[in-house]
Amino acid sequence: MVFYSTRSRDNTASSAEAVLKGIAPDGGLYTPLDFDRMQIDVAGLLSKSAVEISAQVIGKILDDFEPDRMRALIEAAYAGKFETEDLTPLTKVGDDFVLELFRGPTSAFKDVALSVLPRLIVAARQELGVKDEIVILTATSGDTGKAALEGFHDVEGTRIIVFYPDGGVSDVQKAQMVTQAGGNVGVCAVRGNFDDAQTGVKNIFADDEANHWAAAAGARLSSANSINIGRLAPQVAYYFKAYCDLVLHGEIRLGDSVNFIVPTGNFGDILAGEFARRMGLPVAKLVCASNANNVLTDFINTGVYDRRRAFFKTASPSMDILVSSNLERYLFLASGGDFDLVAKLMEQLRAEGVYTAPEALMNTMRDSFWAGCADDERALDAIGRVWRAHEYLMDTHTAVGWAVMEDFKAREDNGWVNVVLSTASPYKFSRDVLSAISDEKPETGFGAMDRLHALSGVRVPRQLAELRDRAARFDDCVDKADMLDYVKRALNA
Ligand SMILES: *Cc1c(COP(=O)(O)O)cnc(C)c1O
Repeated sequence: MVFYSTRSRDNTASSAEAVLKGIAPDGGLYTPLDFDRMQIDVAGLLSKSAVEISAQVIGKILDDFEPDRMRALIEAAYAGKFETEDLTPLTKVGDDFVLELFRGPTSAFKDVALSVLPRLIVAARQELGVKDEIVILTATSGDTGKAALEGFHDVEGTRIIVFYPDGGVSDVQKAQMVTQAGGNVGVCAVRGNFDDAQTGVKNIFADDEANHWAAAAGARLSSANSINIGRLAPQVAYYFKAYCDLVLHGEIRLGDSVNFIVPTGNFGDILAGEFARRMGLPVAKLVCASNANNVLTDFINTGVYDRRRAFFKTASPSMDILVSSNLERYLFLASGGDFDLVAKLMEQLRAEGVYTAPEALMNTMRDSFWAGCADDERALDAIGRVWRAHEYLMDTHTAVGWAVMEDFKAREDNGWVNVVLSTASPYKFSRDVLSAISDEKPETGFGAMDRLHALSGVRVPRQLAELRDRAARFDDCVDKADMLDYVKRALNA
């Protein structure tokens, strides 16, 4: 399979190269175009386990790895890490469904992909005979950082440095990161918001001097953000798995369509749904759910992407994003691989903060996507209502999805089953979830965790309960201009 940079036809890569590099030299994102070669026979998946489905789906996309090897890799990646063999269980809540993607080691959906990515990188390194140490630089809005640290810590031949926005993550998220064990890990706050941290990391990747310096130090910079195609591929699998579960539970018939409602930030999770559709899954609408940072809602409804707007810190911080990186991949796919168009739009976004997509492309997008947004008030209200009606406890991100699903059903009910992707455990955002189902608002996240447990009876994930007893290892904080220096210091230490 050929992976193209979204920005020029000259920068192609094999799947192993794409995984290892993370981002193309021209700043584009590696993306496949030949979906005919990636078709999946859904009927053939019905009898398969979650791990088998995952191996088959990932193997179709990343075809440099032998099927047996891929299967062993996936098996090892998930072994003992998730709460259920199912990996991503599907739960019925009222008439709708919730796809629980948060049953992994850090209680966020990013575990699904970040359990696999380190092993894909190690395999790609072997495949390509690379000796350099792979240095993963990651910007996080809260959940990626911990999931990446958990996936990469003590993986031989790799190192990882995570940057998070100072004050921009919940206290439980911060505790998860700064207590991370492992000899090859680093964690640092950046004065700024997530977009500042993400831009800082992207700038380091695009900086020739930084890459030369890394090469001289026997290192190679790469990314664990969803700009890495190795992050995206494992996420495609759970769309197939959810569909199989609906068929197996008699909720739909094979061939029926399904709507997936996706709480969206960087557009990675929902783009994986678009991959699933292009690989043959009967997807009706992908519903893009945003919080008050509703740049994607506006884009899908108007065709104008405009990041020149106020940035809100919300109760769903992992979706507090104004520049959704993976949308670039979608523009590339929907334009039939128009490198020049994508390069032009991305340059306009960089230079002017705004671009307008061609009408034809937007029409293609609106055939497949529907967009809505819900602010904190509506999301918290949804948590309370769903709890009282169904005794089902949602986190703040999932709740944005739920509220937007209600809008979708009210305005454009197409009659197909609705599946909301649940992206985090409610205990990761205990204070807000607790305030949604009671009048209480304890001072700390951990106090809220206890109260939420007492009131709801829902089990607290062990790795979150244990956090409060662990000592912090990292307290660094830098200006965004000093991120590269921080990396250099960390690697020289
Ligand atoms: C990362 C994240 C999202 C957003 O996913 P994208 O792939 O960035 O769109 C939503 N919810 C939670 C809890 C997350 O961690």
